[in-house]
Amino acid sequence: MSCVFCKIIDSTIPSTPVFQDDLVYAFADINPKAPVHVLIVPREHIGSLDQADESKRALLGHLLWTAAEIARKKGLANGYRIVVNTGAEGGQTVDHLHLHLLGGRGMTWPPG
Ligand code: 5GP
Ligand code: ZN
Repeated sequence: MSCVFCKIIDSTIPSTPVFQDDLVYAFADINPKAPVHVLIVPREHIGSLDQADESKRALLGHLLWTAAEIARKKGLANGYRIVVNTGAEGGQTVDHLHLHLLGGRGMTWPPG
């Protein structure tokens, strides 16, 4: 199994945990792009948002709720950004579905 995030989930690769339950794992990004930069991933390997079929609808909602809950717990009351890079043109570099939670600074629009 070569997926880096699956290895993080099973602790083969160490990470700094932020939140976990039976469905999701959240950890600090190794190369943070903001003062708060957390990755939220499903424990189940799903390659990308594009590969999440209808059976994953509730899981997708849970991932988004988890991101918002982490933002509240981290005190990001002034706002934050959730990013889901998808596919080559979307800038996805790790092929295991993940949400980026970015906060602690002002964001610009549009993203690059
Ligand atoms: P993507 O570009 O696929 O949307 O985001 C992948 C993210 O995973 C990047 O922000 C990158 O810094 C992060 N990342 C890649 N490898 C590791 C790792 O081994 N540990 C951690 N904590 N983050 C990683
Ligand atoms: Zn994986």
